[in-house]
Amino acid sequence: MKPDPLLTSLILSRSQIRRRNREIWTDLDWSAVKSNSATKVILIKSGKVFAPNNELQFQKVSEVDPALIWVDLGIDDFSTPYIAAIDESAAPAQWQDLRELGSNLSDIDIALLVTSVAVSNWHLKNKFCSNCGDVTIVETAGWTRKCNTCGVSHHPRTDPAIISLVVDQQDRALLGRRVDWSEDFYSTFAGFVEAGESAEMALIRELREEAGVIVNYEDINYKGSQVWPFPASLMLGYIAKVNQSTAVADGYEIAEVRWFTRAQLQAACTSGEIKLPSKISIARALIEDWYGEELPTSWLRP
Ligand SMILES: [Zn+2]
Repeated sequence: MKPDPLLTSLILSRSQIRRRNREIWTDLDWSAVKSNSATKVILIKSGKVFAPNNELQFQKVSEVDPALIWVDLGIDDFSTPYIAAIDESAAPAQWQDLRELGSNLSDIDIALLVTSVAVSNWHLKNKFCSNCGDVTIVETAGWTRKCNTCGVSHHPRTDPAIISLVVDQQDRALLGRRVDWSEDFYSTFAGFVEAGESAEMALIRELREEAGVIVNYEDINYKGSQVWPFPASLMLGYIAKVNQSTAVADGYEIAEVRWFTRAQLQAACTSGEIKLPSKISIARALIEDWYGEELPTSWLRP
């Protein structure tokens, strides 16, 4: 079977930054970037940035506290270097996070912000060595934390998770509401890939557990991936076609499951009965791919 084409509307995957080869990185190169007056620095405080008029506000290196955690983000098409400077202090009230900004930023700003948030989340939770418990030191332009006691180097990690839209033989889409979501919010099904599982095994297990739906391996179509740094996921998106028209919420993680034709989804969304996932989510892109046209913003959760 020919695989489905990949999703083209994944907002957080529109990277236009070229990362450097960290294998050949030296302290000398990093010092040059940190002293280059053309380098643009994003100051990130508790996962938030200052972005007036939906544009990231950059600092010069001379304006940024050298005691912060500095992370190389790469260069743009004009060879301008970018750095994230991670500050643990609380963000001022007018600063915004990735969820608030994501759908309005330019492609380059999105790439810079999504990487800054992901690496910042990792730094703030990995000050101590998971091997021996001692303090770790930032190295390799912010991309490694080394433990000088036991010698282990730690790298930013990404946790794979699957996310899937289920479609039945009548081309209806199955959406679910988690027990901890508001009564009006419905989305696709998702879950972490567990130790020892492939992504496809995780998908089959999650859909069986959460919605009582049996998926055959050959009916799974990969649609693309998107980083989801809340705090450290990589979402692998799929469409799963099923032969059954029944589905049962497990009542533990999922409170309700509902099948929708396109007309039923349109009616439920336009009446305000339900809301769908935010613009920046891969869940929105999966539902939109099945729906066949762009979902109106008024149907989506902010
Ligand atoms: Zn250690």
